[in-house]
Amino acid sequence: MAGIRKIEFVASQKGTPQVLLDGYVYNKNAVRQTCIHWKCVKSLFNGRLSTSGDFVRNVTDHNHAPYIVSTWVDDDARFPIQLWNHPLTVGPRTNNNLEGFHSRLNQTLPHRHPNIFRFTEVIKKIEAADKAKIAQLEYGAAPPTRKRIYRETENRLLRLKDKLLTRQKTPLEFLDAVGHLLKLA
Ligand SMILES: [Zn+2]
Repeated sequence: MAGIRKIEFVASQKGTPQVLLDGYVYNKNAVRQTCIHWKCVKSLFNGRLSTSGDFVRNVTDHNHAPYIVSTWVDDDARFPIQLWNHPLTVGPRTNNNLEGFHSRLNQTLPHRHPNIFRFTEVIKKIEAADKAKIAQLEYGAAPPTRKRIYRETENRLLRLKDKLLTRQKTPLEFLDAVGHLLKLA
């Protein structure tokens, strides 16, 4: 591939150096005087790369999709789309509520390594408090209000989903609008 392209070094789970280029991951194969040869982690014959310093000298084609595609998108992906993509779910879109629970739990615990008896005490207290909250809601107490900006974002998202489902927007138009709404782009 022509032109000067910079490579990105990453580390494997074992800590050995790897290179990330165009979504493909490479292991070090051989070190020569003027360059380093790398080979794709996924194939024996395809996907070779040679680098010199931080730059690409030469790269060959792969006979498979990049990591992100084979992991998240392909029909036989490691994490199939149905597992992680829930476009019609209404409710929290982040795990912030779980993070909040963990931080409350940590604050309630006497120290970092409580014994099992202290731990179960704390868990029982939390359960009792939550049961009381649920009972209040069942008797008609108003649920905690969310900030106006979050409510508005949520409503706009619902309207966009509706436009996608009723084909008033194409998937690309939908993604464009969502990206704009959530300031992803
Ligand atoms: Zn490859």
